[in-house]
Amino acid sequence: MKTKAAVLYEVGQPLVIEELELDDPKDGEVLVKNGAAGICRSDRHFMHGDAPIALPVVLGHEGAGTVEKVGPGVTSLRPGQQVILSFVPSCGRCKSCVEGHGNVCDSHGATGPFMYDGTRRLHKGDQYIHHMGKVACFSEYSVVPEAGCVPTASPIPMDKAAMIGCCVPTGVGAVIYSANVQPGSTVAVIGCGGVGLNVIMGAALVNASKIIAVDIRESQLEFAMKFGATHSVNAADRDPVAQVKELTDGRGADYTFEVFGSADTMKAAYDMTGKSGTMTVVGIAPVGAEAGINAVDIVRNEKTIRGTYYGSARSQTDFPKLADMYLSGKLNLDDLVVRHYTLDQINEAYGDMDKGEIGRGAIVY
Ligand SMILES: [Zn+2]
Ligand SMILES: [Zn+2]
Repeated sequence: MKTKAAVLYEVGQPLVIEELELDDPKDGEVLVKNGAAGICRSDRHFMHGDAPIALPVVLGHEGAGTVEKVGPGVTSLRPGQQVILSFVPSCGRCKSCVEGHGNVCDSHGATGPFMYDGTRRLHKGDQYIHHMGKVACFSEYSVVPEAGCVPTASPIPMDKAAMIGCCVPTGVGAVIYSANVQPGSTVAVIGCGGVGLNVIMGAALVNASKIIAVDIRESQLEFAMKFGATHSVNAADRDPVAQVKELTDGRGADYTFEVFGSADTMKAAYDMTGKSGTMTVVGIAPVGAEAGINAVDIVRNEKTIRGTYYGSARSQTDFPKLADMYLSGKLNLDDLVVRHYTLDQINEAYGDMDKGEIGRGAIVY
């Protein structure tokens, strides 16, 4: 079949909107008609070459849609169901999956932007095109593994459902599944984009006492207050570490989250973490980045550093919970998605993100 998609042919170049061919789903695969796709910074890293990916590729990893057709052997889904797409479709059989860490599935890691059988479904004539995260939702239609489709129990608006495919589990999950933030504790969050706002929502959800938003853009800091931030620190004004310490009786925060993705912000997050505190690294820094951590301080002050990928969430069980939390008013996804675009406007959508526009944008099909 034909599908209109946005293709990255060359790093540093705009995405090319064109019609591609999409082969039928094979064994254990599903054809999804995409409903919405989020404008996430991870795609931008591939466009800029900060992270490597095989080219050409259809990006887009934060998506939701409707099952159009199922391939042979698919038993858990039927046409017409709303699904949230997981960009780590846990195979269920590798060591990581069996041990309960499907968010870092080994089989998916080994096959990356190919389907599990090592082939691709997207092509333009003879030229095959890769599928980011086996999702590739910057396309009207996607073929995805059955394991990467998570049905919602009650339908939710597609743009909100798409958010549950990346920034919601990544941010909220970092707080509740990874750091396990305790009620009454203090939290500092560096970077208040889509994921950072979800870290803030997660911290509010577990009743942190102080939630300090850190950014260099005043508009983002103001916006963060809508999602539960109690204090804001503008790192462009003055040393953010000193400001966070002032807000936490000189101790530093109990839990810090680095969401921006750089060595400098990681070091700042570490330095603003208090005694016995935990720094959780959520943002992905450019390849090769190394952060200088004080080797004595980490021991004497018993600090913990941990990384979290996809919020340490288990897509098949956690996405439906997050969807229900949205439906019961616990997660403010209505205020999160502030801009809507058509697929033809995708380069403009990324331009708006580069300009530092607040909140999340989404392509709506
Ligand atoms: Zn993302
Ligand atoms: Zn696996």
